[in-house]
Amino acid sequence: MSTCPVNGLSFRENVDHMVESAMRILGVSETLGEAIKACRSVLQVKFPVKLRGQVKVFTGWRAIHSEHLLPTKGGLRFAPIVSQDEVEALAALMTYKCALADVPFGGSKGGLLIDPREYDDDEIRTIVARFTLNLAKKGFLDPATSVPAPDMGTGEREMAWIAETYKQLYPQDINSNACVTGKPLDHGGIAGRTEATGRGIQYAIQEFFRHPDDVAEAGLSDGLSSQRVVIQGLGNVGYHAAKFLSEIDNAMVIGVIVSSGAVVNLDGLDIEALHQYHREHRSLRGFPGGTFVDDSEQVLEMECDILILAALEAQIHGGNAVRIRAKLIVEGANGPVTCQGEKILMDKGSVILPDIYVNSGGVVVSYFEWTKNLSHMRYGRLQRRYEATRAMHQLTALESLTGQQVPEWMRSEIVQGASELDLVRSGLDDTMREAYRQIREVMVESEEIDDMRTAAYVIAIDKIARWYRIQGIS
Ligand code: NAD
Repeated sequence: MSTCPVNGLSFRENVDHMVESAMRILGVSETLGEAIKACRSVLQVKFPVKLRGQVKVFTGWRAIHSEHLLPTKGGLRFAPIVSQDEVEALAALMTYKCALADVPFGGSKGGLLIDPREYDDDEIRTIVARFTLNLAKKGFLDPATSVPAPDMGTGEREMAWIAETYKQLYPQDINSNACVTGKPLDHGGIAGRTEATGRGIQYAIQEFFRHPDDVAEAGLSDGLSSQRVVIQGLGNVGYHAAKFLSEIDNAMVIGVIVSSGAVVNLDGLDIEALHQYHREHRSLRGFPGGTFVDDSEQVLEMECDILILAALEAQIHGGNAVRIRAKLIVEGANGPVTCQGEKILMDKGSVILPDIYVNSGGVVVSYFEWTKNLSHMRYGRLQRRYEATRAMHQLTALESLTGQQVPEWMRSEIVQGASELDLVRSGLDDTMREAYRQIREVMVESEEIDDMRTAAYVIAIDKIARWYRIQGIS
């Protein structure tokens, strides 16, 4: 495990600290280490927008952490608390996340200081368009170099507006749709992108439970279906993770925390009903299928098997880590456990599935969307019917050779070509399994590494360092 400095660190320093541990293990020189850690460029924009008869000046950032591979990729966050330090930290995380997942992108991130709840849809659209113009004109948005995606406070609607504005600016760019990912399906998006981060978390946890040694090391037993789960965050990431784990894997979600409180039901929460209720009431208070708890910390610290952090950074820290009772901590959000919190958790024997691995589903499927946009064709369009026909011929041959009939339900399962959604899920599942395999391999081979985060960083830094060395930086 990495050693942790005692003093409080900023988010970016936290990320740098984790990277430095991996660099030490790999024997990366100081010069190369500095080159890898450096954030290449940061744009700060201040732009005026006239709303409700008054001019308001908005502040936003876009940080390009590494251009070793292009385009650089990373979400756009709209939140009342965003800073340059945070955007730089998140951009760096994207670089390492892409390297681990073998997504051929550098890392970037953007943020806009805004509370989206204070504005109506038309106003947000105007603000998004002005932000887009500022980013594009200054070279921080285009399909070849810098491609945003959704993050906290943004979704497919904002991505569609970004693509639309970019297209108006550069109508001659045939690949303009690839300037942003996470778009709605009918605006050049890809099937399965909205759910991708939550789906990736599900695949990562499924993979964890395929390894009995890892399950035992966390102090857990049995399969995923007998685990009690608490989730912080019911936004894009938290909702999808909770939905898939409860509906598909039959795990029991016993607690959900949002910014205005939490709800608990030890017999399991109906996530779809809860989500619907939260959308309608903008609060979990009064949800008939559970007990509302004002003090969210209580729920964060309640006894459970898996705690999924899918809201904000620094939610488990030196001050509360000792009271966390979950055995498996899953970092759906970026940086939700500080390095001091991590040290305490690990001393207690908890296992952490780190953000750099576990929440990479979004960027993996963004990669698929970007390549789809460049090819101008939906995945599966060419081969789907061909596959279905071949499968039909194989079944017919089998039936005529054996004299037996394949049951109808089996026939319809087999005689199906892969749809875009099937292919996206298959590619995502494969990526999550492969990254887990690499992480495990490093942990088995190295006596020095006993946690998944350090292993994940070692893999990512090793790949990036090799790229730099070929460029003569060592
Ligand atoms: P979102 O805006 O859709 O949802 C955020 C959720 O967090 C909401 O349910 C909100 O109520 C909750 N929340 C906010 N402040 C809170 C607080 N103080 N205490 C408890 N809950 C709080 O955001 P999202 O897209 O789901 O992103 C969540 C996290 O996951 C962020 O850290 C983001 O960077 C990370 N992430 C998102 C994606 C993606 O594809 N959206 C991909 C990778 C990582």
